[in-house]
Amino acid sequence: MTRYASLILDVRTRVLDRTFDYAVPDELAGSVDVGCCVLVTFAHRPAVGYVLGLRDRLDPEVDPGKVRPVEQVLSDPMFDADAVETIRWIAREYAAPVVDVVRLFCPPGFSARAVRDPRSGVWTLRTAQTAQVEERWVSLTEQGRSFVPAPNAARQRALIGALSEGPVLQAELALSMSSASSVVKALERRGVVSVELRRRVRGRRQVRLASAQAPRRAPGELTQGQRSALEAIGRACDARRGDVVVLDGVTGSGKTEVYLEAIERVLSQGRDAVVLVPEISLTPQTVGRFRSRFGDQVAVLHSRLSTGERYDQWDLVRQGGARVVVGARSALFAPVANPGIYVIDEEHESSYKQGSSPRYHAREVAAHLARQHGAALVLGSATPSLEALERCSQGRFAGASWTRVEMPQRPGGRPLPPVEVVDMAAEFASGWRSMFSRALTQALAETVQRGEKAVLMLNQRGFARWLLCRDCGYVPRCEHCSTSLTYHERGHMLVCHTCGSQYPVPATCPQCGSHYLRMSGMGTQQVEDRLREQLAQIVPSGVPVIRMDADSTREKGGHERCLEEFDAAPCAVLLGTQMIAKGLDFPEVTLVGVINADTVLKVCDFRAAERTYDLLEQVAGRAGRGPKGGRVVIQTYQPRHPAVQAAARHDRSVFLDAELPLRREALYPPFVGLANLVVWGPQLEAVTSTCRQIASALLDRAEGLSLPAGGAAGDGDPSWPGGSPVRVLGPVECAISRLQDRYRWHVLVKADRSVELGPFVSEALGAVKVPHGVSVAVDVDPHDMM
Ligand code: ADP
Ligand code: ZN
Ligand code: ZN
Repeated sequence: MTRYASLILDVRTRVLDRTFDYAVPDELAGSVDVGCCVLVTFAHRPAVGYVLGLRDRLDPEVDPGKVRPVEQVLSDPMFDADAVETIRWIAREYAAPVVDVVRLFCPPGFSARAVRDPRSGVWTLRTAQTAQVEERWVSLTEQGRSFVPAPNAARQRALIGALSEGPVLQAELALSMSSASSVVKALERRGVVSVELRRRVRGRRQVRLASAQAPRRAPGELTQGQRSALEAIGRACDARRGDVVVLDGVTGSGKTEVYLEAIERVLSQGRDAVVLVPEISLTPQTVGRFRSRFGDQVAVLHSRLSTGERYDQWDLVRQGGARVVVGARSALFAPVANPGIYVIDEEHESSYKQGSSPRYHAREVAAHLARQHGAALVLGSATPSLEALERCSQGRFAGASWTRVEMPQRPGGRPLPPVEVVDMAAEFASGWRSMFSRALTQALAETVQRGEKAVLMLNQRGFARWLLCRDCGYVPRCEHCSTSLTYHERGHMLVCHTCGSQYPVPATCPQCGSHYLRMSGMGTQQVEDRLREQLAQIVPSGVPVIRMDADSTREKGGHERCLEEFDAAPCAVLLGTQMIAKGLDFPEVTLVGVINADTVLKVCDFRAAERTYDLLEQVAGRAGRGPKGGRVVIQTYQPRHPAVQAAARHDRSVFLDAELPLRREALYPPFVGLANLVVWGPQLEAVTSTCRQIASALLDRAEGLSLPAGGAAGDGDPSWPGGSPVRVLGPVECAISRLQDRYRWHVLVKADRSVELGPFVSEALGAVKVPHGVSVAVDVDPHDMM
């Protein structure tokens, strides 16, 4: 009987976003499996497809005579049937093309480009970096153990000594002794040592180096909070239905220690663990803690590894050689055999949302995977997202229970640092003109005089330099975008931060010809210069200032280098952008200063206040981790804003009491579902008319819907005001209305939680014919609406 393979073709058009059945010829019957990549003919051309299913029968309307065969198998299975279920779930939930989702599950370095060998006619994938590399391991033989080198054979003695603890890489021997290879060869001939070729796992050395300093276990007993967290996680594991524990612990309360304990228990039950950490916190410091606890069982996956390293780490997981995966967002898709626990650290981080298709959120996908595998999901944060908090207050979501466990104290009772809020408007009014307020200046002086360390955060968005004509107000803008240009010291250039275009700096105003074209604003470089001047007045011999921003950390390892330098210095100031708010654990930091707290508040995004609160609370947590304690100074123009006040008092309720009613009133998450549909193209007319059609297709469908009986979803949740459960807003221009010569418009959809937003949007879009040259992106649960 003929079997059929249901394929998703590697072609990106919405029209082809469905499976096609191909017959599996007898000679391929043994090698075509779910997750394979195969070659077929589609529309008279060779095409690559992924096998999502196998079946014995075609749909009744399909003519078996028209079904074409699978021509060649191009890869081993890359994912299994469980993964296919998840692929379909993500595609549906986020209204994403299935093929985009499939790619998440393919190995690092995978490419669906097939090439044909003209002689043999055989097709192969152009996948790089999957070749296996071997390396030579040297060990003592049984006979070698009793071998006594001649008295003058110093190098032989050294070699035998080096091997006494077990096999050693020949390459490593070569580092510590001269002509290692000839000594090895000589002893191999005499049967004293043997050389074995083993596969080299790229990326492992970096993982090893990371564990060098980390202690295996935290000193002391677990705290009360840690014990209750572990009990809750234990219950979630035992329930085997994807229960979620939100670990709501202040910075430094020992959350990581809880993850490590919980993972150890899961491993002892023969199940595996996946840990997500924000890309920026995947430092040797973090990885080292996992590695020192779980040794070689740890695989690491993140974008700073090379493709080859990532491939080997991925393959190690697939072969069962690593049972703890630590990585960024995409580590969720590593081929873990039997996941028993998923951990997401810093759950509130917006980097868990993918910015390109499929625009999934790692929290939601992890919750789905946990349900699928009967695993537990642990979401850890000092500032859990409003989504996570809301689900905990409901107690349940999608058939799983959601529980919040608090860890309000740091081990050893170290207090959270006191926070002082400085009103910068008042500073200015009283005649103080420096960017460092009097309070911060004094705190800095005291800190460096005591020889301690300080961390200063400046908000990137608030720090940019641009050109301004003092006569006519002209500001140079990008020719391709709607944004104004930023001045870059390096190369004396104007740069567009949305598309990267560079322009020379004009000598006179292009609009009015005036010579008064002057620099405005402040760049990070200036802040650094001022800071150095200021410090030089206090400590004439100088204090090291380490700047950490996108520029200084661009190269591989740059981020680590900055942190190591700061760590090594006895007294220093770390000046950095948002990236310093996360994961730093330096007990010697006694002062944290926030130079401009409020620029994030001004961004037109309903999460602006939440992000500000998260950021301030996180950065404040960098102070006072050691016995000397610490303090925090926040400079702001909005000292009474609830986000600032909540961080200042370390009291989240101040923020929630103000924010939740606003979100509920204005119909925003977590109370309703949200989707953003962005339409762009080079012709304004085509863009706006497509956008209008999309809006009316959405409205048409919305009219057919009604709220479920008994009111809005969510157990009589009063958030939805009634009427149709869907609201369509727009079309309107995007905040960035032009980008790289493309006009951008959008439509926003708000829906009661009873509506499945992904399928709703997909179906509405199905009714719209998008003209050539116009693109549409769907973002369900958007985190960036510019
Ligand atoms: P978080 O992940 O919540 O920021 P960590 O797990 O990094 O907190 O813990 C902060 C510091 O406290 C670390 O140096 C850790 O080794 C230490 N620590 C954690 N748990 C304990 C404990 N029970 N007793 C003593 N020290 C602890
Ligand atoms: Zn001018
Ligand atoms: Zn531009």
